[in-house]
Amino acid sequence: MHELVIVSGIIDAITQVAERENKKVSLVRIAVGELASFDINLIRELVELLRKGTCLEEAEVIVEEEGAVVRCKTCGMSWGFKELVEPLSEDEREMIHFLPELVSSFSKCPSCGSRDLEIESGRGIRVSQIEFR
Ligand SMILES: [Zn+2]
Repeated sequence: MHELVIVSGIIDAITQVAERENKKVSLVRIAVGELASFDINLIRELVELLRKGTCLEEAEVIVEEEGAVVRCKTCGMSWGFKELVEPLSEDEREMIHFLPELVSSFSKCPSCGSRDLEIESGRGIRVSQIEFR
């Protein structure tokens, strides 16, 4: 279960920061990329389970999906992954869902027409906000 390793890793990292700062954590926001192929509900359940007895026990923890962003390397414009693949056929969208790198084979930059696209964010999971009190 990949999610378990990820969630314990995040809680460990936050615990270390809180200890170093010698502060209590009041809020943590965890952003799960839409292309990260994690089960967001499982992440939420694991956070609830694993934070007991840690510095996060009394903190507000928000787990939310983060939309993927594709950037055109030619003109520098950024586009939402969803809006970029929206005009494609269902088959193509399904393929891209599993192999997001293929986005540049199927789509081109709506602004300049270049196919030199890269996925800028939305593939990982990260702590996007942390507040202490
Ligand atoms: Zn472009």
